[in-house]
Amino acid sequence: MELRINPYLDRLVCSATGQTVPHHEFHRPAGLCPCCPPPGKPVEALYRLDALRDDRAGDWRGPEAAVGLWRHAALLPVWGVDDAYAADVGRPVFVRHEALARELELDLHLMNEGGHPSGSFKDRGLAVGIAFGAACGARRFCLPTQGNAGVAACLFSSRLALPGCLVYMPEAWRGSIYHRECEFFGGEVRFHGANIAAAGRRMREDLRDELAAGTLVDISTFFEPGRLEGKKTMGLDIAAHFGSRALPDAVIYPTGGGTGLVGIWKAFAELNALDRLPGRPPAMIAVQSEGCAPVVEAFRRGLAAVEPVVSRGTVADGLDVPGAIMGHRMLGVLRESGGTAVAAAEAEIVAAFRRYGALGVAASYEGAATLAAARRLRAEGFLKPGMKVLLVNTASHLVSLARSSPPAAGAR
Ligand SMILES: [Zn+2]
Repeated sequence: MELRINPYLDRLVCSATGQTVPHHEFHRPAGLCPCCPPPGKPVEALYRLDALRDDRAGDWRGPEAAVGLWRHAALLPVWGVDDAYAADVGRPVFVRHEALARELELDLHLMNEGGHPSGSFKDRGLAVGIAFGAACGARRFCLPTQGNAGVAACLFSSRLALPGCLVYMPEAWRGSIYHRECEFFGGEVRFHGANIAAAGRRMREDLRDELAAGTLVDISTFFEPGRLEGKKTMGLDIAAHFGSRALPDAVIYPTGGGTGLVGIWKAFAELNALDRLPGRPPAMIAVQSEGCAPVVEAFRRGLAAVEPVVSRGTVADGLDVPGAIMGHRMLGVLRESGGTAVAAAEAEIVAAFRRYGALGVAASYEGAATLAAARRLRAEGFLKPGMKVLLVNTASHLVSLARSSPPAAGAR
């Protein structure tokens, strides 16, 4: 593979100040911005959209293979991946679900992401993040994880034949399905602390020199710009699927770190700038668990940034994210789109998970949280009868079942 930078990629900017990251010629991997107080804020990739629109009026998608994630190559920062790397990534299955549509009196659609090679939508972000980092000179990747992101990072490191991804997990994760999956995909797993924040602090201490040199890249959520670009393809896929008809009125997204929420909205903005957005963009709705709902809390209080909370735990590991480094942007997306944020009770998430199982829908706890949110928002009247609503089911049921047996409804 000859990875190369997309010639339409223009520059990297700070997500908080909008300042261009200085002298970044993509010769070394990008981390957090240098303009905000340490450790800095996430940076975002911007493209020369005017040039892209003019040059590629008929064939705007780019020169890459027509299958998988890189059919969106024009709006991805790195080119040159082969089919073995990503042909099986970014092939969502959209389903209009008649039974749930009748039950909820909605025009209800599911976006099922469980068919990804590592079993979850994390593959989108890590496929792009790791290829982009490698194109900028990274030789190895690391991250703290308590779930599917670590698995995906290990899988794509292996697909690039890089040294195994260095994965830091909380002590209690020893022997978990995530630990075993990471090792299966060639990762090197280390354990520290009681939660992902403690594991991450230890990782940055242990690896300070290599991280500073830029050969080792911290691929944590929003710590580099590639994962956001990969998650953006969810929005590109939604637009492509609904393109000939109207876009959904609302998208309900299970929100942990929020890369997908921000990414989907970035996709709509870029398509709009290219005159390729088919209609009005949907209201974006974030769902979290009542056990850990910092974004919901900040949204309700009208804050400009998300303040960390102390998690009380949730069966949905992907929602157990007590802080949000990109919280300012997540809140902006919810407000700008006319959306909202809702916290589902643990019992509602478990009940929705079981309902999905009974319907034969292969959904994770995180995916089930979107169904729980749809029920609640119908009951509260935010969602009106007949509205077209898309529920993002981010992973298959398998990890959820392997991780823990579902607690009795009403438990926790
Ligand atoms: Zn900054």
